[in-house]
Amino acid sequence: MDLGLKGKKGIVCAASKGLGRACAISLAREGVELVITARTQSELEATAREITAMTGTKVTAVAGDISTEEGRAAALAACPDPDILVNNAGGPPHGDFRDWTREDWIKAVDQNMLAPIFLIKAVVDGMAGRKFGRIVNITSASVKSPIPVLGMSNGARAGLTGFVAGLARQVAKDNVIINNILPGPFLTDRLRSGALAAAKQRNVPVDEIIAERAVNSPTGRVGRPEEFGDACAFLCSANIGFIVGHNLLLDGGNFNSSIA
Ligand code: NAP
Repeated sequence: MDLGLKGKKGIVCAASKGLGRACAISLAREGVELVITARTQSELEATAREITAMTGTKVTAVAGDISTEEGRAAALAACPDPDILVNNAGGPPHGDFRDWTREDWIKAVDQNMLAPIFLIKAVVDGMAGRKFGRIVNITSASVKSPIPVLGMSNGARAGLTGFVAGLARQVAKDNVIINNILPGPFLTDRLRSGALAAAKQRNVPVDEIIAERAVNSPTGRVGRPEEFGDACAFLCSANIGFIVGHNLLLDGGNFNSSIA
């Protein structure tokens, strides 16, 4: 299937590892010239080189914290008129909401709600003028089914989801299409490091903890990042202009509902 993206330009945020990296690989395979971001320059540059070697597509590494104005400005300076924007960042920490300060909340809202909103603000009118834009926000299954220890994630991402629901319907007539993807458990560094901590605490092998994450999944496994990347590339493709403001839950069917 030709996704019709050859020659397009895109920004994929938080893409040196994990789900962002997988999205970048899938888009680069379709011939999308990319700017990728992350805070750790050496890892980011290595990922950019790796994706270019894999796909033959130009990938530029722009290091920076996407939750800051400077980080966003640097990404936009390297790709001022993107056709595609994939919003992503690290997730807020686990914990008990009684321990979280206003500062903790501001950090979570900055990273998981305001950063995507300000990037969208910077690019959406240009996309509308050119009559093509695809924006995918990586959120979390916790938007649909809240995870009690991830209260800041539940809250901040729900704020983004509400905003996107409104905006997606304002810009679709100009072929600017905005959707969210909600990951369930995917085998990335974030999932692995959480599993490692739990494994140490309970003195069991890390694979046992990862298997527990999959135990309720109809697929019997956790997700593979490349599956996520390909879903993202599909939602960026030329012919999806009628899929507007969706929240695509990628959790292997874990959320039990007649209508996903
Ligand atoms: P990951 O493997 O830890 O990768 C995170 C990536 O984001 C890294 O490249 C990291 O590089 C970059 N990053 C983090 N904070 C950043 C920031 N402020 N500015 C720029 N880059 C930043 O994580 P992941 O599993 O791919 O998760 C991606 C997102 O999906 C997170 O928000 C996570 O909460 C959410 N999610 C993941 C899962 C899952 O199972 N994997 C499930 C639900 C939700 P640097 O550290 O160098 O910046």
